[in-house]
Amino acid sequence: MHIAILDKDKCHPKRCNHECQYYCPPVRNGTKTIEFPDANAQPVITESLCIGCGICVRRCPFNAIKIVSIPDELNKNIVHQYGLDSFRLYSLPSLSAGRVTALLGQNALGKTTTMNILSGILIPNFGNYNVKDNRDEVISRFSKSVMGQYFKDLYNGNKKAVLKNQYVDLIPRVVSGTVIDILKNNDNGNLDFVVSELSMESSLHRDIRDLSGGELQKLAIAMALMKDADIYLFDEPSSYLDINERIRISEIIRKLAETKIVMVVEHDLALLDKIADQINLVYGSPGAYGVITKEKSTNKAINAFLSGYLREENVRIRPTSIDFNVKSSKRTTVTTKITSWTNLEKKFENFELHVGSGYINKEEIIGVLGQNALGKTTFIKMLSGTIKPDSGQVENQLRVAYKPQYISPDFDGTVYELFSTTMKEKMEDQFIKNEIIGPLDVEELYDKNVNDLSGGELQRTSVALTLSTDADIYLIDEPSAHLDSAYRMNVAKIIRRVMENNKKSAIVVDHDIYLIDLISDALIVFTGQQGIKGCSKGPMDMRTGMNEFLKGLGITFRRDELTKRPRINKLNSALDREQKLKGEYYYS
Ligand code: ADP
Ligand code: SF4
Repeated sequence: MHIAILDKDKCHPKRCNHECQYYCPPVRNGTKTIEFPDANAQPVITESLCIGCGICVRRCPFNAIKIVSIPDELNKNIVHQYGLDSFRLYSLPSLSAGRVTALLGQNALGKTTTMNILSGILIPNFGNYNVKDNRDEVISRFSKSVMGQYFKDLYNGNKKAVLKNQYVDLIPRVVSGTVIDILKNNDNGNLDFVVSELSMESSLHRDIRDLSGGELQKLAIAMALMKDADIYLFDEPSSYLDINERIRISEIIRKLAETKIVMVVEHDLALLDKIADQINLVYGSPGAYGVITKEKSTNKAINAFLSGYLREENVRIRPTSIDFNVKSSKRTTVTTKITSWTNLEKKFENFELHVGSGYINKEEIIGVLGQNALGKTTFIKMLSGTIKPDSGQVENQLRVAYKPQYISPDFDGTVYELFSTTMKEKMEDQFIKNEIIGPLDVEELYDKNVNDLSGGELQRTSVALTLSTDADIYLIDEPSAHLDSAYRMNVAKIIRRVMENNKKSAIVVDHDIYLIDLISDALIVFTGQQGIKGCSKGPMDMRTGMNEFLKGLGITFRRDELTKRPRINKLNSALDREQKLKGEYYYS
């Protein structure tokens, strides 16, 4: 069967000639496949009368229609549909205490919808979108699985659920005051314990409006942990956190799952691998429908996700696989240096930075690892000449194209207007079109207002604009933020292709180890005390850099035999101890 999705925000029946209806072949033959209730109202597409030709999709001037074919069988398992010609979700995961269940899939396939259903915020309607509250039917429909009892307990108040939302940056809009005051209002007697577990001491007396993304994330997690609940749902707990904090959070969540029901949505695959006991993969067509598969072991699920093919479901989720190669541990022997620097020192009122001498080659991509607030941006500004070091010299001052960590949309207009004003005639450049704008799916955002973009859409727009700028070196700070795992890996590929093709260099700062592993030729490692003192070393070859960085964290990685992807070793496992003894934290 064919399902029709009408994007209600994109559809403007007053501004078009109802092309979808005019050109629809069944309508032309007298069938009422597409009808407009009145001239100014949005159309109704009757799916049972649709032949799936896709003509309306192509003819709609606003790209408002999606027609997707799905197997008839699938439609019997519909769990929720938002409305007429709207997104629908098929099946739900099974949750129980004693294990961490996770969802893995592209964005807009219904992961948040699932979280909302499992927390009781959204009551599934099984496709009957006019029915508002049918809790008895939910309990009865799931009565043959553990989820029947789950919903019974949830709806009659026997079990309480708490959801850590993914949009932590919105918290200051609904809560005000200092961190400690907000925490005290939610205290269940475990405030001190949670503050210490999450190392929140330094932000306790700060106003919520002044918190960084990472501090807001920790506050959101703390508020969830402080609630006395039975079911804990964490939607993207790693965003804005550095690797140390991600590891810490994973340990806290795993401990919680010993006695509670815990579910996580997470796009950092190294973290997901560490945190989850089982994973439900999600596939479908973004914005149209999402199917939650049966649970798989974490390793099997991540490998299937990377391969792009779900064997048991016989579904291809991506045309190609994402491949990891064990790179040569040596730094590439490219001869042309684009810049070099001696030891550099810079002191501000409350912060000092020491940069060890180094150089960058043409076409080289340097990964940067380290906690936040250790001076990464100051270092780059010294390379570009915007900040003068107190001592030391930079050989060549470089033209830098910079994508900051936090992107604030300060453009009043559509994405298309933003690109055409910034890029002018370069909009027609075939390389930019085919290798940057196309793979980042920016064209589908052209009609949207920049101010209305979601975090992920803004990230794609911003990466595309930065890579399309003329520069000697590209500094890309946290490209993984707000992107799903597949996009993260895709962004790594795009950056590499642009650098190779244009013979340019890039510095990529990120906390996602998979992205850093895929993209980097060499590493710079930052250490120190956040906000007080920073120290950088490198670029170093990958082996030395990873050893330097991971030694500081006390964790080791091994490679998955099949996919060669890096996997965090269990602390104190035989492999962990053996690798530490050899000093091989990454390349064992
Ligand atoms: P994910 O969390 O996997 O990114 P979501 O569950 O947020 O996916 O959304 C899946 C789809 O459902 C998206 O296309 C989204 O636009 C749509 N959607 C979410 N909430 C609503 C709603 N209240 N009404 C209509 N569509 C919605
Ligand atoms: Fe009509 Fe073809 Fe669109 Fe279906 S896909 S509504 S048949 S134009």
